[in-house]
Amino acid sequence: MAKRDYYDILGVSKSASADEIKKAYRRLAMKNHPDRNPDDEEAEAKFKEASEAYEVLSDDQKRAAYDQFGHQGLGGAAGGGGPQPGAGGFEDIFGDIFSDIFGGGGRGGGRSRASRGADLRYDLEIDLETAVKGATEEVRIPTLEECETCGGDGAEPGSEVDNCGTCQGMGQVRIQQGFLSIQQACPDCQGHGKRVRNPCRKCGGEGRVRSSKTLSVRIPAGVDNGDRIRLSGEGEAGEQGGPPGDLYVQVNVKPHDFFQRDGNDLYADVPVDMVTAALGGNVDVPTLNGKVNLRIPPETQSGRSFRLRGKGVQSVRTSSPGDLLCRVHVETPVNLNAEQKELLEQLRESLDNSSKSHSPKTTSWLDKAKRFFGERVG
Ligand SMILES: [Zn+2]
Ligand SMILES: [Zn+2]
Repeated sequence: MAKRDYYDILGVSKSASADEIKKAYRRLAMKNHPDRNPDDEEAEAKFKEASEAYEVLSDDQKRAAYDQFGHQGLGGAAGGGGPQPGAGGFEDIFGDIFSDIFGGGGRGGGRSRASRGADLRYDLEIDLETAVKGATEEVRIPTLEECETCGGDGAEPGSEVDNCGTCQGMGQVRIQQGFLSIQQACPDCQGHGKRVRNPCRKCGGEGRVRSSKTLSVRIPAGVDNGDRIRLSGEGEAGEQGGPPGDLYVQVNVKPHDFFQRDGNDLYADVPVDMVTAALGGNVDVPTLNGKVNLRIPPETQSGRSFRLRGKGVQSVRTSSPGDLLCRVHVETPVNLNAEQKELLEQLRESLDNSSKSHSPKTTSWLDKAKRFFGERVG
């Protein structure tokens, strides 16, 4: 079985320092982490390969054995197809290095990563104006908060909390698996390092209680549908005083009466009466900053768009605002009285008797129709 050289896998030299090895592994692990590459078998294989290499090279004893004897030097322990997820080693290395990267890991030193609170997601529905201009919105979120009665440590106030005897309060134990010595969360205290004699009556010893909280969420100007705002540390409280998770506010923008948004541009349908469309004129168009005047040139056809520069959205990601595109819909007059009908009849007569073409679309459409039937029949 041809196994790649561990130094090659991490891309470091044989004389690399522990720090260089850690950095190299961190870079590869971040890049190929399964959470970031769902359903990507190649990335997963690379991630496992790098983890295996790191497991060996980060341990002085194992590294020395590997340097001297290569993969043979590790015997069956790490040579049998890599670390086994769930068997301890893999997860622990992973936990160590990632808590390092993300600053988790816990305030208590040897505390296990598992006690961090869960991230929460909150769907926030806002209107387009708020999305464009930004605002501060109050949201009420059901969550788990640190228990006030016990201060989060899960012990009834006044009762004793002992250090766990199994791990001497470290939360971690080393176990020997053949050649390997593996660090694991302590099975007796689940990594908390503490043993509670009398569990807190309010929270049952968990250190957290169900509650809800009101938060002010600052919505930056220019957010769009689907954007997420992260509120660090506003997720659920951690178990027994562990660090809290984060809150992700998911922005949903409600449909607007006038505008449709596409990136930084806004689109609006603008009805224009038949006479203004023919002779030209002005119409008032609403924008997000009040009305503006749109000049309609003579002979404007239905469906034509006019661009109002800079009247769109100033997004959080770009420096210049988008445009407002006004799509003209020429409107046919309704509720005509006898006199108005008579005037239109006169207009029709005048147009029919004219030598010029007054309906360019109709003319070209009729030409096409003639050709179509001519081809079919002839
Ligand atoms: Zn409590
Ligand atoms: Zn323990």
